[in-house]
Amino acid sequence: MKTRVYINDVAVRDGFQIEKDFVPTVTKVDMIDALSETGLAKIEVASFVNPKLVPNMRDGEQVLAQIRRKPGVLYSAIALNLKGVERGAALAARPDEINVVMSVSETHNRANANRTHAQSLAEYSEVVKIAKNVGMLVNGALSTSFGCPFEGRVPEERVIEFAQRFFDMGFDGVSLADTTGMANPKQVESLAGKVVKRFPRSEITLHFHNTRGMGLANVMAGLNAGVFHFDGSIAGLGGCPFAPGATGNICTEDLVNMLEDMGYDTGIDLDKLLACARRIPDIVHHDVPGQVMKSGKTLELRPIPARFQTS
Ligand code: ZN
Repeated sequence: MKTRVYINDVAVRDGFQIEKDFVPTVTKVDMIDALSETGLAKIEVASFVNPKLVPNMRDGEQVLAQIRRKPGVLYSAIALNLKGVERGAALAARPDEINVVMSVSETHNRANANRTHAQSLAEYSEVVKIAKNVGMLVNGALSTSFGCPFEGRVPEERVIEFAQRFFDMGFDGVSLADTTGMANPKQVESLAGKVVKRFPRSEITLHFHNTRGMGLANVMAGLNAGVFHFDGSIAGLGGCPFAPGATGNICTEDLVNMLEDMGYDTGIDLDKLLACARRIPDIVHHDVPGQVMKSGKTLELRPIPARFQTS
């Protein structure tokens, strides 16, 4: 039997948030509706953060109200604090899951969320109550788990300690995020291995950026360590507005092409996913890092050149 791998696409959030031009609500909704038909396990559709700081995410409420939800797909939204979670919880068209973020590096947490660890953790214990009250799942993303652009490497014990705090509060899952692409495969296998061993029955997700070309190698290291949930972004869009030098996420269709080629079951229709990715350059008005969208799938065979053909 094939091993199942679950993929969450974050392009509409991690990708569109750094675009200078506002991506119209209708464009976001159309893209989410198309992604819903591809077989993705989860889609990150909104971000309840300060609209003055991240103007492209100011229409989260409208997006959630207008998308066509496909049964079986989880619709997730990000928040950095209690206020953001309350925005999501108050909606009639609530996200299925709220994904709260805390950076393992305190410096980055101040830059990203304007909070100390103590402040973030105190707020997140409230978050669980609010979310459970309205039936939302809670995922905790630990940013800079593999390194911080301000502080360098972070100790593995810190990451495990914060994951433990999240699970103790009642979180449903934890993501280890390589916010600025500092992870290498050996490091991923070590940290992910320790986290899986410590929390064997919990949902652990890996979130990689391909900043230094190690994204898909890091996925392999994660699979070897026993992680089967990954974030990706179609066309390889992405970045963090508050992390200098941050670039695109690992590209979802490149990831699916690799995994399916190796015999994993992603549940995804790669042709439909590629069609979504190929719409992205027209939306963002610039080139994108995705590779399979340009080269075609591995086994998309080409006609034999005429000079080799015998009649
Ligand atoms: Zn990211």
